Amino acid sequence: MNEYQQIFSTINLGLVVLDRELNVSAWSRWMELHSGMPAEKVVGQPVCDLFPSLCDNSFIRIVKSVFAFGNYASYSQKLHKHLFPMKNPHGSSSIFPWMQQNCTFGPLRNANKEIIAVYISVQDVTDFVMYEHKLILMAKIDSLTGIYNRRYLDSRLAEEIERSRRHGNPLSILMLDIDHFKKINDTHGHLCGDYALRKISELLQELVRTSDILGRYGGEEFCCILPETPFEQAVVLAERCREQIAANQFSCTDHQTNVTISIGVTGLHRDDSLDSIIKRADDALYQAKREGRNRVCSCPAPSEPNP
Ligand code: GH3
Ligand code: MG
Ligand code: MG
Repeated sequence: MNEYQQIFSTINLGLVVLDRELNVSAWSRWMELHSGMPAEKVVGQPVCDLFPSLCDNSFIRIVKSVFAFGNYASYSQKLHKHLFPMKNPHGSSSIFPWMQQNCTFGPLRNANKEIIAVYISVQDVTDFVMYEHKLILMAKIDSLTGIYNRRYLDSRLAEEIERSRRHGNPLSILMLDIDHFKKINDTHGHLCGDYALRKISELLQELVRTSDILGRYGGEEFCCILPETPFEQAVVLAERCREQIAANQFSCTDHQTNVTISIGVTGLHRDDSLDSIIKRADDALYQAKREGRNRVCSCPAPSEPNP
């Protein structure tokens, strides 16, 4: 043992050494701490017996290639999540129960330059991955209602228009706006208004399919993208949404109140852009407002809705 051994025991990185038979010949202190398996129980054992899930074709291929060619290889978290199954050390998380790892493989040579072992370094990247996941969610979810935000709706609508054209499937959209919402805020307070926004989002989410994309388009406006849904079916869904919201009693603190919504419906036309389909749904929505609110107005595409 030389003084470099101190690095092996104290570095904030897992280090594992495998011999040609894939037996573990070294297991660092870091690996002991995170796996809960002491070196004396691991060293000398086949790594595939200790971690059967690790020994898939890609792992074996990488180790064999390092032994044969002396190359370096990486095992990225983006592709594989983790190599060694070890509990998330940053607290329990239902999305990330396991430590997320970036691993590298490299050759160890003797004085004659012959490859005698393969080392694996294991880096814990769980906290970066958890932040990244949170940021991705924040970029697409509306913080008040928990449904998608405007940015995400715009990007998905562009994608769904493209997909609908490619496959020749219908696509419809709903634009929904709460009626006299200002009055709800003014009468019952902004907290009640916020509660109504959350409750309406929840009710709408229950009414649409999981493949539909519901989001908050603006203050008290919502948009729902309905892939593979013909215009006529979208009108039926819109009517069901309108009815259910109108029938719901919104109880906020000691107040009970009813809330209604107006809805504009349209289907995709072959010449539509993102702006033109939104404009047609918006025009239908404002027609519903003009005609007295708490109603659905539909504006079919100028000719065939399905290109
Ligand atoms: P209409 O039936 O014509 O749609 O009338 P309206 O009162 O719903 O429409 P208006 O555009 O006059 O008012 C919208 C209100 O929505 C005003 C704004 O204060 C309120 N609002 C927008 N975002 C929020 C929010 O996040 N929380 C609360 N409580 N109110 C909001
Ligand atoms: Mg409104
Ligand atoms: Mg509005």
